[in-house]
Amino acid sequence: MRGDCTNVKLTKIFGANVFNDAVMKERLPKETYKALKKTIDDSEPLNKHVAEVVASAMKDWAIEKGATHYTHWFQPMTGKTAEKHDSFISLTEDGKAIMEFSGKELVKGEPDASSFPSGGLRATFEARGYTAWDCTSPAFLKEDEAGVTLCIPTAFCSYNGEALDKKTPLLRSMATISDQAMRILKLFGSDASRVVTTVGAEQEYFLVDKRFYQERKDLIFTGRTLFGAMPPKGQEMEDHYFGSIKERIAAFMKELDCELWKLGVSSKTKHNEVAPAQHELAPIFATANIATDHNQLTMETLTKIANRHGLVCLLHEKPFAGVNGSGKHNNWSISTDTGQNLLNPGKTPHENAQFLVFLAAVIAAVDEYAPLLRLSAANAGNDHRLGANEAPPAIISIFLGDQLTDILDQIEAGELTASKKASRFGVGVSTLPNFRMDVTDRNRTSPFAFTGNKFEFRMPPSSGSVAGPNIMLNTIVAEALRKIADELEAAEDFDAAVNDVVTRLIKEHRKVIFNGNGYSDEWVEEAERRGLPNIHTTVDAIDYLVKPEYIELFENHGVFSKVECESRVEILFEEYAKTINIEALTMLQMAKREVLPASINYATKMATSINTIKSAVGAANVSVQASILSNVSDLIAEVQEAVTKLEECVSKAQNSEEAKEQANLFKDEVIPAMEALRTPVDQLEGVVAEEDWPMPVYTDLLFRI
Ligand code: ADP
Ligand code: MG
Repeated sequence: MRGDCTNVKLTKIFGANVFNDAVMKERLPKETYKALKKTIDDSEPLNKHVAEVVASAMKDWAIEKGATHYTHWFQPMTGKTAEKHDSFISLTEDGKAIMEFSGKELVKGEPDASSFPSGGLRATFEARGYTAWDCTSPAFLKEDEAGVTLCIPTAFCSYNGEALDKKTPLLRSMATISDQAMRILKLFGSDASRVVTTVGAEQEYFLVDKRFYQERKDLIFTGRTLFGAMPPKGQEMEDHYFGSIKERIAAFMKELDCELWKLGVSSKTKHNEVAPAQHELAPIFATANIATDHNQLTMETLTKIANRHGLVCLLHEKPFAGVNGSGKHNNWSISTDTGQNLLNPGKTPHENAQFLVFLAAVIAAVDEYAPLLRLSAANAGNDHRLGANEAPPAIISIFLGDQLTDILDQIEAGELTASKKASRFGVGVSTLPNFRMDVTDRNRTSPFAFTGNKFEFRMPPSSGSVAGPNIMLNTIVAEALRKIADELEAAEDFDAAVNDVVTRLIKEHRKVIFNGNGYSDEWVEEAERRGLPNIHTTVDAIDYLVKPEYIELFENHGVFSKVECESRVEILFEEYAKTINIEALTMLQMAKREVLPASINYATKMATSINTIKSAVGAANVSVQASILSNVSDLIAEVQEAVTKLEECVSKAQNSEEAKEQANLFKDEVIPAMEALRTPVDQLEGVVAEEDWPMPVYTDLLFRI
């Protein structure tokens, strides 16, 4: 069942499939609505009766819109979403079907979830996992060939309550940053009662023609090309970025927007990206939780709609060598329930002092916990990008822009005295310039850039959930705010204490601020001099999660327990090893069953040609065929040698028993062996005749669309 997206009215369809606030207000009894809002906004426990009434209203609404099934929609550690569909069917005594949905079914589910990664948290004999309704993210209807399904966003945990998903820790991290930020806001006399983190996730992706995709095992199994020579043209003409959108792509985007809008995803901006066949979509920001759910829905919808247009959406970080890969920019800010963006410089000295406190907290957090941010952006795919001159380096630094850096310099030097008289606060110049987005220059090479009223974390991987990056951001900033709040609460002279803490934090953490070119080699050296960590790969980053001081951080903020940290490390190592293992096996299969036979065929053609021509005219010049034959034969031998070597490395890695050791073997031995195999294969692609090459090439994938 697909919705009609031909003549849509945006305002009419937006949120049409969402059980949102307006629908709840309209359909729930006043008391129930109020009670539910208290749970959503103030985290008050939900009582059974309320759940019962909500479930019934939700079911009626869903059924009116054609739903037959419901599902607890959750986000296991695979980074994808999971769902198990139940129909609303219930049988009466006389054998008739009626549609039922109870409060209990809304609030709690028990998927037999033994096959989701748990990192040892759940032994298979205790396979039960629980899903619990997250009423802070609205339920929605999915319309597709399966019909209409009511999807209830849920958190997923084990029998003992340990988080098995990405949502649970995200919600916990949002709670802790709210608590800590509120301590500070109270001191500034704010009337807010809670704080939320806001997120806008820009999504990059590639589209390729499905016909070509299906001819490439590497795309099918791994989402990226493992072989492929550069075509004569790549992205060097810079003609794709913001270029006019091809009709076929435009039709896809139109349907995509329509489907996203129905789901309440506020898809706002779409444009062509730098690489050929690469595009980007950005929504209007929402709370971190909803934005995370929406980004998952966006990735799912991209994939689904592409398929309807004979296209395949590649979400992988590096589908093609030689052109840019894809990332996800995580725009992040903190905002009060009264609508004040805490990273917006204010209009009064008072607001500015408060802004500087929050700014200093972010700077301190990012500097102190850089490895955790790095980890949150790590996956095997992103290892091809970070530090590879197309994406930010693997070094975490902050771009503030010249204006703001200048102000911080002055604060650090204690020179911001000019406006002191006008201000109640030493640090607060009477007015700070208004850092609107277009005022802060756009430094694209920084992994963490201040863009006027929010930070843009540019490292996260295109295929990953943004839960991880936001869990880290929320937690580390909560910790920085906690320390500041401890100090300010104890202070006798509040203004002086604000002054001190901001000045001190800027001094201490100045080293993380870098406004220059993050792609340059000089920066790598400079960062090393500054003592900033440069964690090159995913495997190197994973272990940080179980550093004692970080475990303590997560435990103190109730975000992860020690066992949860340990289980996640286990999952990450395993995920990495499995990813590379699949890539290596795919390469081997393609090399042995496609590349070698095709190349041998082609070599044989040359040999046959030589023989045939020679027997016709003994003195004929067959030097071209001979030279091709010799070249191809040499490359065939190289391929075979590389295949053998790769097989050895894979087998050694597969036999390793310990997760970390295994991941390291894949990184240090298998990946180089894969690269060694790619080289002669790509060279063969350049000599074997087009009609004899066994798979579509980059020209087909990137330009024939
Ligand atoms: P750019 O191309 O410079 O990266 P875009 O305008 O494409 O910028 O994207 C900016 C993203 O930041 C959008 O998703 C937008 O909704 C989001 N954003 C704007 N303000 C905030 C905020 N206060 N908190 C979180 N995200 C925000
Ligand atoms: Mg951006």
